[in-house]
Amino acid sequence: MKKVSVQCRNVRLAYGKTEVLKDVNLDVEPGEFFALLGPSGSGKSTLLRLIAGFNRQQHGQVLVDGQDVGALPPWQRNIGMVFQNYALWPHMTVWDNVAFGLVERKASKAEIQKKVGAALELVGLGSYAQRRPNQLSGGQQQRVALARTIVIEPQVLLLDEPLSNLDKTLRVQMRQELLDMQRRLGLTTLFVTHDQEEAMTTADRMAVLDQGVVQQVGTPTTLYDYPVNTFVAGFVGTMNLLPGKVRARRSDTLTLDVEGVGELHFPTPADTPDADTLMVSFRPHSLRVDVADAAHDARYVWMPGTIEASEFLGEFTRYRVRVGSHSLAVDHPHHVGLSKFPVGGAVSLGLEPSQVRLFSA
Ligand code: ADP
Repeated sequence: MKKVSVQCRNVRLAYGKTEVLKDVNLDVEPGEFFALLGPSGSGKSTLLRLIAGFNRQQHGQVLVDGQDVGALPPWQRNIGMVFQNYALWPHMTVWDNVAFGLVERKASKAEIQKKVGAALELVGLGSYAQRRPNQLSGGQQQRVALARTIVIEPQVLLLDEPLSNLDKTLRVQMRQELLDMQRRLGLTTLFVTHDQEEAMTTADRMAVLDQGVVQQVGTPTTLYDYPVNTFVAGFVGTMNLLPGKVRARRSDTLTLDVEGVGELHFPTPADTPDADTLMVSFRPHSLRVDVADAAHDARYVWMPGTIEASEFLGEFTRYRVRVGSHSLAVDHPHHVGLSKFPVGGAVSLGLEPSQVRLFSA
C-alpha cells in the first residue's frame, strides 16, 4: 500500500468567539507514527476530527498525499478513525462489527470473508469472531475497533486517546501491539494523547499543543533534550525551573543571582536568550545530591538545599529539595545498601552545567 503524508497548512478553527486552533502547521511524513500531545482542552481532538472531516476549519488546508481534502466528506477521505469509546455496535458480533464498513461499501461476500478474516487475525481475535462486544475485555474491544477501521484499508489512521480506557498494564502492552501493527501496515498514523509517556515511548515524532498552538514538533528525544520553551520543558518529562537575574554576561561565563541561593556561575551556552531574567532549567537526574559538608567536585555548580520529602521508586529515590524559595525534584540512583538522605537534612546539590537549558522568563 502506498504510504501517504498528512499536512495541515495554517489551520484555524473557532467555535463562536473561542479560537480552538490557531494557525496550526503540521507535516506528518508517509508511514509515520505521529503523536499529538497536550493537556486537556488544548485542541488535540478538534484537530484530529478536522483531519478526519468531522470538523471544518475556517481557514487553512488539510492535505493528504499532497491533495487538499477540504471538499471531501469523511467517508471519501480514505481516513480511518478509532474513537476513544470505540463506538462498537453492542448488538452485533465481532465479525459483523468489523464487516460493517465493507457491507456499507457493497463489497462482495467473498471479499468481506477474506478481509474481515485477515483483519481479525491481524489484531489476534480470529477466534472471537462470534462474540459480542460485552463479552470482550477492554483491550479486546479496542482491537475490534482497530480491525473495523483497518478493514476498509484507509491510507491514514487516526486514533483519539486509543489507550485511555485501559488499565496501566494493558495500556503498556497495547501500545506495543499498536506500534507493531502500525509498523507492519506502514500506515501513516496520528494519535492523540495527554500522556507524555505514551507519546514518548511510541511516537516517531510528536507535536506538543497548548491552547490551540503547536509549541514544538520533533522526535521524543529532541523535545525532551531541547524543548523550545518552558511549557514543552514541563510537559514532556519533569523539569526544574529556577528564575535567576543576570548579574554578569561574559563570553565564557554567565553569572545568575537566584533568590535564596546566591550567585551561580555557568559556562555561557551559545543560545542563551538576551534577557535580564532567565529560567535555569534542568531535569531531576541532572543534579547530584551530596552531604552538605562534602568536598565538592568543581565540574558541578553547587547549591545548598534541605530535603523536604523523598519517594523511593526502586531504581532511584526522588527527593523534593528546598533551595531558597524553590522546591526542586532530584533523582538519586539507588544501589543495594545505600541509605537515604533524611527529610529535614541539609544537602548540597550539584548541577551539571552541560545539562542546563536557559529560557527567557
Ligand atoms: P483536547 O482534545 O486537547 O482535550 P478539544 O479539542 O476536545 O481538546 O477541545 C479544545 C477546546 O475546544 C476546549 O476548550 C473545548 O471546550 C472546545 N470545544 C470542543 N468542541 C467544542 C464544540 N463542539 N463547541 C464549542 N467548543 C468546543
